[in-house]
Amino acid sequence: MTGRTHDAAAITLLGIILVAHPLTNITLATAVVGFIANQIGGIAPDIDQPTAPFWRNLPAEGLLGKFVGKLLGGHRFLTHSLLGAGLLAYAGHWLLVVLQPIMPRVDINAVWWAFVIGVASHLIMDTFTKEGVPWLLPIPVKFGFPPVKALRITTGKIVEVALIFPGLILLDIYLVATHYNAIVSFIHTHVGS
Ligand SMILES: [Zn+2]
Repeated sequence: MTGRTHDAAAITLLGIILVAHPLTNITLATAVVGFIANQIGGIAPDIDQPTAPFWRNLPAEGLLGKFVGKLLGGHRFLTHSLLGAGLLAYAGHWLLVVLQPIMPRVDINAVWWAFVIGVASHLIMDTFTKEGVPWLLPIPVKFGFPPVKALRITTGKIVEVALIFPGLILLDIYLVATHYNAIVSFIHTHVGS
């Protein structure tokens, strides 16, 4: 899956979970930082890929990305497993605890969940691709859905670009439209005069 599909999937899964478990009394700072953390979580597992958005803009032409990729066992390896997701969640929590003093109005617990939901959405989405995902590492088996490889998605090709990505955006629009009043009242409470 491409980075933008992962970002759309991350916010979609977060939206679905928020609809099921609405948060009351979160600050605007928590909402903003939570959104950013969710989007970072949505692409974080691809740090094992030298061409990931993370590395592309760094100097040395992705050399660092290649190094980290090798360290993590290559693409679709450690960071694309439950074990790796757990490590990312642990690292994310550590970083949030370190950052908490400079963002006192942010509920780091809610932000951490937004990040973890982003990471989870990544593994779920990659499961629908031809390569599959080694969910149960160190057991070196890649799982995909549907089980028949030919029926799965090829990254960046027509099904993803013309169906999956627009489908996620439509779902997001639907979620916003059906919870419009709640969103407006949240904005009024925190941003309005
Ligand atoms: Zn991936």
